[in-house]
Amino acid sequence: MGLYTPEEISNARRNIQRYAWARAERDTAIETCAPYMARSDGEIWDLITGQSIPRGIHVNPDLGCPECGRDVYAFGNYPWKVSLQRPYKLECPSCGEIWPKNDFETFYKSGLGPGGIFDRKLADESLLYNAENANAPHYAVDDGMGWIDESGNRWWFIAYYSHYCTWKELPAAALALGKAYLYTGDTAYAHKGAVILDRIADVYPDMDLTPYSDLGLYNSHGSTGMGRITGCIWENGMAETLSLSYDMISEGIEDDNELVRFLSAQAEKWQIAQPKSSIAHIRENIKHGLLREFIRSCRDRRIRGNEGMTQTAMATAAAVLDDPRETPKALDWLFEPGKSRGTGGGHIPATLIGEVDRDGVGNEAAPGYCFGWMNAFARCAWILDRCRKYRDYDLYRDYPRLKRMYSAPYRLTALDRYTPHIGDTGNTGGEGMVSVERQTIISAYARLGDPDLARLAYKLNGNSTDGLHTSIFDAAPEAIQKTVLEIAKQHGELELKSENLNGYGLTVFRHGEGHDQRAAWLYYGRNGGHGHRDRLNIGMYYRGMDVLPDLGYPEYADSKWPKRAGWTTNTISHNTVMVNRQQQEVNWIGHCQYFATSQSIGVVEIASPEVYPDTRDYRRTLAMIDVSPTESYLIDFFRVNGGNDHIMSFHAGEGDVTTQGIDLTPQEKGTYAGKTISFGTHYDGPPDGRYRGSGFAYLYGVHRAENPTAGWWANWKLADTWKTQHGDTPLHLRYRVLSNAENAALAWGDPPQNKPGNPRRVRYVLLRNASADRKSLFASIIEPYREGQPHIADATRIDLGTEERDIAAAAIKITTHTGRTDHILSSDDPNRVFHLTEGISAAGRFAIISRDNGQTSIFLVGGTRVNTTSGTLRIGTPTHRGTVTDFHREETGPAWVEIEGDLPPDKRLIGTQIRILNDGIRDACYTISDIVSLENNKVRVEVGDTSFIRGLASREDYEEGFTYNISTGDPCEIQNAVHLHIANGKVETLCATVDYEWT
Ligand SMILES: [Zn+2]
Ligand SMILES: [Zn+2]
Repeated sequence: MGLYTPEEISNARRNIQRYAWARAERDTAIETCAPYMARSDGEIWDLITGQSIPRGIHVNPDLGCPECGRDVYAFGNYPWKVSLQRPYKLECPSCGEIWPKNDFETFYKSGLGPGGIFDRKLADESLLYNAENANAPHYAVDDGMGWIDESGNRWWFIAYYSHYCTWKELPAAALALGKAYLYTGDTAYAHKGAVILDRIADVYPDMDLTPYSDLGLYNSHGSTGMGRITGCIWENGMAETLSLSYDMISEGIEDDNELVRFLSAQAEKWQIAQPKSSIAHIRENIKHGLLREFIRSCRDRRIRGNEGMTQTAMATAAAVLDDPRETPKALDWLFEPGKSRGTGGGHIPATLIGEVDRDGVGNEAAPGYCFGWMNAFARCAWILDRCRKYRDYDLYRDYPRLKRMYSAPYRLTALDRYTPHIGDTGNTGGEGMVSVERQTIISAYARLGDPDLARLAYKLNGNSTDGLHTSIFDAAPEAIQKTVLEIAKQHGELELKSENLNGYGLTVFRHGEGHDQRAAWLYYGRNGGHGHRDRLNIGMYYRGMDVLPDLGYPEYADSKWPKRAGWTTNTISHNTVMVNRQQQEVNWIGHCQYFATSQSIGVVEIASPEVYPDTRDYRRTLAMIDVSPTESYLIDFFRVNGGNDHIMSFHAGEGDVTTQGIDLTPQEKGTYAGKTISFGTHYDGPPDGRYRGSGFAYLYGVHRAENPTAGWWANWKLADTWKTQHGDTPLHLRYRVLSNAENAALAWGDPPQNKPGNPRRVRYVLLRNASADRKSLFASIIEPYREGQPHIADATRIDLGTEERDIAAAAIKITTHTGRTDHILSSDDPNRVFHLTEGISAAGRFAIISRDNGQTSIFLVGGTRVNTTSGTLRIGTPTHRGTVTDFHREETGPAWVEIEGDLPPDKRLIGTQIRILNDGIRDACYTISDIVSLENNKVRVEVGDTSFIRGLASREDYEEGFTYNISTGDPCEIQNAVHLHIANGKVETLCATVDYEWT
């Protein structure tokens, strides 16, 4: 049938005449093809190797390069330089050595047997020698199965070449040849593409990765060892690319007698069984050797990737096969129940309803992986659109969460520059927004019509519509510009505000404008899979820089690399608390206790004791508070109750650290684990991905202090590692410790060293309390500032008269250099009044009282009272409470929940969060979009375009229907917030969700 209609193909060729961007797309395809167009058919055919040549993604992952060792990894995970111009050779980007030392190409050719397949037994042994050095004849000689050195280490040079050159470049070339043919109509491109596809189809049915995995070769297969040419994960790309390529070139070979002549001659020469004596035979060979094999392997799991990948690979192969008997069956498979790692079908319903959360984020924690789902399912949806003659499947119509997936990537970002490096994402502090791409967004807008997508596309295009376009295959691809411009003018620039993405588990505070924008985030979502054990981790951006960088993507995201589980994904390397020298347990999400924002302030509290079953309380309260229109500080209270060892781990970015108010002694040897335990030792667990221990042995260069008293600080002079800083004045970050600890330490920890540009090391602060059935309340202030211009002059813990071990409340007084004082209270009891000194007292979950030059600001969340010398604030109802009696049960909004109880239909609650106390499996905070009165003491709370559907009741039987995130009878609550500004006896209400009294 052809995925592209004749009309679309002529649109593309016409657009190339009209638009420079379309010509650029054509030119890219032609440039990629050029090296292949310059080769003869025979030369191209010879490049393709069979099952007997292994594929692997590492030469030797532990040792690096035989010459320069691990220095090679400064150039990336997969750093070796390969080129089809230099057959079977790898160049080390670090030392420049070329490997292997033998002439493998000649050896390979000497061993070609029936089918044109290399057979080691036929090859000329005498060719296996070091061609560079006669004195070391066996050194670095690879016969295809790797070189084994004197110490028994195996070096897979040829396998690496095969994987990264042969099997990366040829599929890419096939796709580019297909595009070049579509764009130009020149059948020479189709011809070359067919040579590649036909030859791969010859060898593909015998391709199987398992025997090589059994030999210890690494590949992309998520530890299953399965795959065809590559691992079962990356194999999806192979299947999709080769299927698309065939679709594009198929028509162009219709009258290609030269192709028949060449391939028939090759078949005869090499005794290839498949007939090649007509174009029909060649097409059948490609269908048989590729498309049907892809379909088969999606079923047998040798093609099995992250969600979206396999469904798309299957759909593409099925659509291109275009067989009235086989195609519908393969399409139906996409929707059949199954488990991604088990048996059954492509389980699209379970994925797009249950595994994508209500914010539109996939379930892999790390943005890079989660948003991969969106891109893959978008391609899948496009393929299914083309298959309507077989089946009426429409992902956008039937799975509304796919639409939400497009707005999700941008909603996570900050400063129009960063996506938080959550889980296996990015490097240590570098910039970049994950999956926020102009072309994806504009296509999504064209498809979905969401005005926010138009505004985002406009913004990503530099606040302009110049050059904005939809697909090259559209009749009028620039027609979109007009409506985008209208929407941009009507709605203005798209600006993100502070937000709590409770489906995903991320709070982002966003303050300031332009270069003064700053943001802080607290992540409380999934911490398994591609997530790190990082529940309640925090981050911050300031003056263009990531000042609290997560370490990001590990050296290798596989289950063998010891440092991944030992350190990079371990709880201890994150800005959070480790309990009992163990990593956190994995679960879906923490529980938001409250989230409130007003002008120049935001606060959130998240509890997550499930990640440490020994704890009764594991909870962080984080507030971002402005001290001026350009500057903010963070205040952080972290409570832990239970377990017998609590460590608050904190690190900022690269840079020298100085301290004040603490007397640190260097530990001469060893690591944080002890003087006798050396770096990287998994002394408390297995040396691989199963490790769940402390990771202490990855912290080195330790300085320690016993019983430091509250009030000391560590100060990072931050290096501008990624050249992202605004302005020339160096930036600093000061971490003020306002709680006592049994001991404190500073130590170095290493970011992944194979991500080019990553810092060599960053300095950690570790605050530790270790005694039986411990309670801890770690209180601190995080203050980024420009050199010489800190804002905070002094900060002290206020004595609340409570017992040392009482973690129910804590308070801090801050004095700024401009003379402002902030009194801050975090308490578990809305009614208990605490005296905060200087005539101030407060009762509430969170309160800040700022006094500056005779003016007073009060921000009170979930509280009843604040007394100041200028007056008293009283609130009758700190928290509205009710019970869920009914709720919206559809997948699309506007969603609503009906509540009985003392909840007033008060429009001031619009924009605040209602928290439903559900079963705790996922969290249930929703932003109120409207609230209306019903009969019988009930209200209806509307919460916008979201869904209460949690997923399907059964992964095996979809007929069992949905499960919901909330139930009738669940209690619910809204924490009230009041923000007042008092100057000259006049009270200004900055925010109030409830009636209050000021006297
Ligand atoms: Zn080297
Ligand atoms: Zn991390």
